[in-house]
Amino acid sequence: MEILDLGARALAEAVQSGALSATAVLEAYWAHIQATEPQVRAFLHLDVERARARALAIDQAPSHLRRTWPLAGVPVAVKDNIVTEGMPTTAGSRILEGWRSPYTATVVARLEAAGAVVLGKTNLDEFAMGSSTEYSAYHPTVNPWDPKRVPGGSSGGSAAAVAAGMAAVALGSDTGGSIRQPAAYCGVVGLKPTYGRVSRYGLIAFASSLDQIGPIARSVEDAALALGVLAGLDPKDATSVPEPVPDYVAAIDELPSAVRIGVPEEYFGEGIDPAVREVVSAALRRMEAQGATLVPIPMPHTAYAIAAYYLIAPAEASSNLARYDGIRFGFRAGAPDLVRLYEETRARGFGVEVKRRILLGTHVLSAGYYDAYYLQAQRVRTLIRGDFERAFQVVDVVATPTTPDLPFPLGSRSEDPLRMYLSDVFTVTANLAGLPAVSVPAGFVDGLPVGLQLIGPAFSEAELLRTARLVERVAPRMRWPWQQGREGAEAR
Ligand code: GLN
Repeated sequence: MEILDLGARALAEAVQSGALSATAVLEAYWAHIQATEPQVRAFLHLDVERARARALAIDQAPSHLRRTWPLAGVPVAVKDNIVTEGMPTTAGSRILEGWRSPYTATVVARLEAAGAVVLGKTNLDEFAMGSSTEYSAYHPTVNPWDPKRVPGGSSGGSAAAVAAGMAAVALGSDTGGSIRQPAAYCGVVGLKPTYGRVSRYGLIAFASSLDQIGPIARSVEDAALALGVLAGLDPKDATSVPEPVPDYVAAIDELPSAVRIGVPEEYFGEGIDPAVREVVSAALRRMEAQGATLVPIPMPHTAYAIAAYYLIAPAEASSNLARYDGIRFGFRAGAPDLVRLYEETRARGFGVEVKRRILLGTHVLSAGYYDAYYLQAQRVRTLIRGDFERAFQVVDVVATPTTPDLPFPLGSRSEDPLRMYLSDVFTVTANLAGLPAVSVPAGFVDGLPVGLQLIGPAFSEAELLRTARLVERVAPRMRWPWQQGREGAEAR
């Protein structure tokens, strides 16, 4: 077994027991990154010296301590809208080029306290606005399963890094699908926790009532392991909650025996690629054969979700992004007076999609339009929450395709914002309702991964992950991209 083939849990156990050193793990990853990253381009920043120092510190720590670190020696990657002292944070934007945060996000501090080794910062659509990582101000990332296709977004760098074997676990952020959609496109597991489950302290805000950080990993087990490290109350984030954190890894030890899965026909109908629908339906039928019950449920307000999301998210973004004025952060344009300095900085520092969102957001919040758009969207949000509340009276989880389509070719949608927005149709509802949701690989179409999404009641991550494990159990497998062409490599 090669080091790269081990998942996060297996790696951590090997480092805990002393069977592998954190340094050996890091060097195996580093060699692989040097061979792979020039094609995939998942990272905006790699810091091998920092990682080497961390790995050495883990190896030199007393063994009784090392044994208590759940992620001992596990190489991780961090989306570049999560701040890290000592490394740059750009959020994929020119406006933050060269900026360094004076502090570290709680999630990163927690990963490091658990023994993880941070490799660097991953690429994303600028300020996490997008679904393909093509709106990064720096460069696109490609899909490790097919380099002509997008990895999804906005956490495309994180999902691609995990799928390409360049990180065992990565952090993403999810405002409308940005963990789950790239996880689906890259054939990995991506979990958006319940709003408030994981601290947002140090996450560069996009839409504060929707944003949540979560793990991207190769398996449900590794996602559970990482979530256990990330979750919990943080006094620095007033929206984080004191709800106790269960042992997620222990919770998924047993598969669910009689889970009731709600299947909303609104998510399987018009606009979905029939090949995607077939993969997801086949996975559900196999889950049924394992004892799950499929229950058709109505989700009548689904049709309005995208419209509501693309009013609420830009409204909040336009307010959150007001702080980038050239005074306190990053890039500053030269100008003869203060107002021109603001204008020039923002005109040159922001990319076209971010400007589109700011314009849309300020418009829908303006006095004459507030009631017609923003208030109306908030009402739709309440109705969508109601759809889920009714569903969870009769089912344990709701299952949908994560995306309506397969990973699309690079360049095919970047000029067509509406089509880009539509790849979020199935993911935005969980954010609007604040619910936990996970994308799990369900199979492949012509070698391209398809994701199945499970959405659960608030704080039901343990049950959600248990059901996700059943999906994993029944789904057809393929070798990972880095294993292809290698003799004797096991399918995962
Ligand atoms: N693709 C969606 C958007 O562009 C979601 C982004 C996200 O979840 N950060 O807004």
